[in-house]
Amino acid sequence: MQIRLYNTMTRKVEDFKPITPNHVGFYSCGPTVYWDQHLGNMRTFLNNDILKRMFLANGYTVNHVMNFTDVGHLTSDEDTGDDKMEKGAARENMTVWEIAEKYIKNCLADMDLLNLIRPTHMPRATDNIKEQIEWIQKLEKLGYTYEIPGDGIYYDTSKFAEYGNLGGQNLAELRAGARIENNQKRNITDFALWKFSPKDAQRQMEWDSPWGVGFPGWHLECSTMSSKYLGEHFDIHTGGQEHIKVHHTNEIAQSEPIVGKPWVRYWVHWAWLMLREGKMSKSSGSFWTVRGLVEKGYDPMAYRYLILLGHYRQPIEFSFEALDAAATGYKNLVRKVADLMNDKTGGIDEDIYHQWHDKILAPVSDNLKTAESLVVVQELLKDKNVNNSTKLALIEFVDELLGLQFMDRATKLHELESIAAPEEIQEMAQKRMEAKKSRDFATADNLRNQIDAAGWTVMDTPDGFKLVKKQ
Ligand code: AMP
Ligand code: ZN
Repeated sequence: MQIRLYNTMTRKVEDFKPITPNHVGFYSCGPTVYWDQHLGNMRTFLNNDILKRMFLANGYTVNHVMNFTDVGHLTSDEDTGDDKMEKGAARENMTVWEIAEKYIKNCLADMDLLNLIRPTHMPRATDNIKEQIEWIQKLEKLGYTYEIPGDGIYYDTSKFAEYGNLGGQNLAELRAGARIENNQKRNITDFALWKFSPKDAQRQMEWDSPWGVGFPGWHLECSTMSSKYLGEHFDIHTGGQEHIKVHHTNEIAQSEPIVGKPWVRYWVHWAWLMLREGKMSKSSGSFWTVRGLVEKGYDPMAYRYLILLGHYRQPIEFSFEALDAAATGYKNLVRKVADLMNDKTGGIDEDIYHQWHDKILAPVSDNLKTAESLVVVQELLKDKNVNNSTKLALIEFVDELLGLQFMDRATKLHELESIAAPEEIQEMAQKRMEAKKSRDFATADNLRNQIDAAGWTVMDTPDGFKLVKKQ
């Protein structure tokens, strides 16, 4: 099936053409591991997962690289400000190395809860310092760098004619109008490749280099680690939308002089998860993690479903009302799948299977329209011309494509419903039904509460009642 993706570089939805047939290599900017990843970060990682699943469903092999930024770069894009890793370490009274370990572990746990397929490679910036130094040396030889004494080695963006193309920036205006915070930089857009450690303080993370002890600039790690695991040219680079104008623009500037043009074929950027007051961020008031949602009793799939009901190029406003609505919608679908399991009829009808398979895959292959695919799934479940076995086989495919774990949750529900309630619970349910018939609602409510406290849910059905073990 023809795959189409919106390419930020050309500002168009384009037909995807891989460098190697039936194979895709893509790089995703990963987390800075000084704190937990909030639901906004996870939206970005979830989008990477959908991109990967779409390629897999289309028969591609996938090499997906996501880095862990464990070197503390400075908190602003201007290469000034505090070091996030050192700040995190001070906050928790740990070393920066321990902080990195802790938050990598937490991030992976949240990714697992959301059923994200692990990236093929997850390199850490600190394991690739030598490669970053070598990269700077190459740029130095080509004449792209200059030193600001006592500060660091900088990239001279005026030497790269295409600087700013990705973000559509008019550089003349940007350069004329902007205030240069670091007034020793030659151009407002220049960025650090190597920062010197301060003379008066020892940093926990610092390395020797031909220019002096220090640490690499943030943008560098993505150029070096992508080329190490994907080759010098690869298909797709993804990241949050805020990376367009600085981080990815700088990655291109420091890569193309070395590897040639174009470095990356398609640039795909994910829109943010918002709160009513603005972007969900580490500093915003509401900081929710996936583990936090589970502690509150939510199925992580409810969050996954909520995100897939939107489109990756549109912001989504997060609220618990929206999450509750998604949780209800998700449970309804699980209910329907469990009902199919209760009444498996017919064998798999191959022709019908293929028709629906393509109907489900088509919108996702067309620029990742997951919501449209979910509409097709609803139609499938309603269609009386498709037998239950065929429907179940298709739901298995939906799980591979969208990762929503319908089969798993429905199987659990089905198992719970097949457990017979103990006799005393059955008796209570019987009495409750009789109490209801004689309009003694106080007794009926009382019995329902007792049944509930014993770990069972009683439901009214046309022929009496049904007891289901609570999860
Ligand atoms: P950070 O750890 O801040 O470097 O962020 C890791 C990834 O999460 C980056 O690719 C960001 O673009 C992305 N990200 C941060 N905040 C949000 C948000 N509110 N919605 C979606 N993605 C986000
Ligand atoms: Zn990056």
